[in-house]
Amino acid sequence: MSAKDLTDSQRMELKKLAEQLNKKRAFLELTIAGNESSDLTYRDIVGEVHDTADESFASSLSDTQAYSKCHVINTLSDVNEALQRIKEGRYGRCIDCKKDIDSSRLHAYPEAKRCLICKEKYEALRSHAIGHRL
Ligand SMILES: [Zn+2]
Repeated sequence: MSAKDLTDSQRMELKKLAEQLNKKRAFLELTIAGNESSDLTYRDIVGEVHDTADESFASSLSDTQAYSKCHVINTLSDVNEALQRIKEGRYGRCIDCKKDIDSSRLHAYPEAKRCLICKEKYEALRSHAIGHRL
């Protein structure tokens, strides 16, 4: 998805992804603000979830033990970066290989900054480094 010469359907898709990112950001900010004790759920904020990405995000959040604050902060920064990339017209491009990220991947993870191949490489490197430290 390049910024120039977007078709109408691509523009719609980008708008949808931006909305998804905004909702995600609103929820993450609430979580960071210390709403652990409140009864608000992801569903209360975004309404009915219709797709599997939202569904899995909602269920991962319901397990607050596993969903650490550190992870919330990291995700929020990824979400903010993705919204910034949309504004600058360079959304959907892998930060490593500069190729377009698969649209199915963007729907599952609208904040994705790497394509699947680069993400796997990145995570392999990272877990390797952590393994050495231990
Ligand atoms: Zn890549």
